[in-house]
Amino acid sequence: MSTDAAKAEALTFEVTRREDVTPSERIAEILVDPGFGKTFTDHMVVATWTADGGWGDAKVKPYGPFQLDPAAAVLHYAQEIFEGMKAYRHADGSIWTFRPEANAARFARSARRLALPVLPEADFIESLRQLVTVDQEWVPAGGAGEKSLYLRPFMFASEAFLGVRPAQQVTYSVIASPAGAYFSGGLKPVTLWISTDYARAGEGGTGAAKCGGNYASSLAGQLEGIEHGCDQAVFLDSSTHTYIEELGGMNLFLVTKDGRIVTPELTGSILEGVTRNSILEIAKEEGLEPEERRIPIEEWKEGAASGEIVEVFACGTAAVVTPVGELRWNGGSVDHRREGHVDRYAEAIRAKLLDIQYGRVEDSRGWLT
Ligand code: PMP
Repeated sequence: MSTDAAKAEALTFEVTRREDVTPSERIAEILVDPGFGKTFTDHMVVATWTADGGWGDAKVKPYGPFQLDPAAAVLHYAQEIFEGMKAYRHADGSIWTFRPEANAARFARSARRLALPVLPEADFIESLRQLVTVDQEWVPAGGAGEKSLYLRPFMFASEAFLGVRPAQQVTYSVIASPAGAYFSGGLKPVTLWISTDYARAGEGGTGAAKCGGNYASSLAGQLEGIEHGCDQAVFLDSSTHTYIEELGGMNLFLVTKDGRIVTPELTGSILEGVTRNSILEIAKEEGLEPEERRIPIEEWKEGAASGEIVEVFACGTAAVVTPVGELRWNGGSVDHRREGHVDRYAEAIRAKLLDIQYGRVEDSRGWLT
């Protein structure tokens, strides 16, 4: 069985609209303060893949539970992947996604790693277009509030079979959830906990794939961080516990006094963030020299103490750019911030990304679809 077998024909989506769609006034109420990931739109995308027939049965249908056999392989062996992206409404009312082909490519890489079938890029992007078209009322006006419609494509082994092998029946789906601004009262720096007892991903493992298992394995480290008064955990390489990898759901950047912006290189156990890649390009416009390499955690501790490191921030689709303040570990802590500190680069890069996403500047790189 080839999981890469590209289907010759593009999927066509049969649309069934919900009869009792959420009234416009109720949607407007929800969009005032949507929070994150707790309210879902009226419809969803579903398509099915079988080893015999490939992709088919693509639908936009009313949002609702799946009927899943208790033996569905995903519930036992976690053969599952997902993506996370956003639809942004511009001032003229038009709706855009940011670099969806990068998410499609990452979804395909994740699929190969989890022995799931590859969904062609065109079908992936069309599925988003279909859902956003039907539920377009749910895309909030962006404005200063930085609201958006979060899109969650995912794929899982739906075959009812307890043998350990790649499933021969797989379900693809997309759901959507309106999202508010992460930081309504300005950027608030987060405190990070160095997770040394727990790794997020190992060499040869699934760290570079966006699969549920990575998030499950990040939770214990995350909890340990919270118990130590931190907001999030930073994970190190699992073999030597020496090098910085990433957070549970965001990539990391350090800015040095001499104008370099450094992020951990992609070693196979780090997720290649779309925001990370975009920042590596944008940083040059801020006069920073981008650098991808292995970064020892000691370099962060020492650099923060000596003043060599002037800024640290995390990045990802959900929060865009999040400044990092204090770094804590078992037995110590350090903070690079001094009297009068401002997160100058985090703010500038964040503003630049948001300006592109919300159509406030020309999209010179063709990042919007
Ligand atoms: N790392 C992990 C583990 C993540 O879950 C995410 C969020 N997808 C990121 C990094 C950031 O990726 P992106 O910029 O594509 O959202």
